[in-house]
Amino acid sequence: SKFADLGLKEPISKALVDLGYETPTTIQEKAIPQILSSSKDLKAFAQTGTGKTAAFSLPIVELIDDKDDNSQAIILSPTRELAVQIGKNIEDFSKYLPDLKVVTVYGGANIEQQIKQLKRGAQIVIGTPGRTVDLIRRRALKLGNIKWLVLDEADEMLNMGFKDELDQVLDATPSSKQTLLFSATFPKEVESIAKNYMHNPVEISS
Ligand code: AMP
Repeated sequence: SKFADLGLKEPISKALVDLGYETPTTIQEKAIPQILSSSKDLKAFAQTGTGKTAAFSLPIVELIDDKDDNSQAIILSPTRELAVQIGKNIEDFSKYLPDLKVVTVYGGANIEQQIKQLKRGAQIVIGTPGRTVDLIRRRALKLGNIKWLVLDEADEMLNMGFKDELDQVLDATPSSKQTLLFSATFPKEVESIAKNYMHNPVEISS
């Protein structure tokens, strides 16, 4: 199959052509139509390198309301490097959607600068768990209008000891949101997050 078959809007298809993406990967073929057509929670078994970033990012970029300045999507990632990479990918996918505001936040960098960026509008926020919680506490990041919450590399985040932070972010988001959990492994700690916070998730694998 081709990306054209997935029914993404023209500005996104055009960006994918620029990036040289022609054929969706397995996880993209499964996740993209699922997220586009249903607000059910999703549990995805996917390693790095499978194209998982586009699998969750493309449907969010497709469905987000770029006329609404509230933060609508939050993506949590275990490391600064991965958060920055996801942010760059989303900027690439949305290059022909000039109104879409994407902000990446992570520890070890000036928080005031990140607060300023959030104030200018952040419809999609990508963050590492500790800094995200810090920004919520400072009321610089408001998650009351979140429609999508992505836990990327959930197993890694839990291995790194971010259980409390995940709980805090999950508790700060509306229960009506769609939760998308991506993980390479499903030890009991990941299953317990899924059990506590997800409602009858659809399961897919790459
Ligand atoms: P990820 O697993 O999301 O980290 O993606 C791994 C790499 O594959 C990244 O460099 C992506 O830009 C690239 N990639 C993801 N999906 C596709 C695709 N459908 N076609 C070509 N390259 C892709």
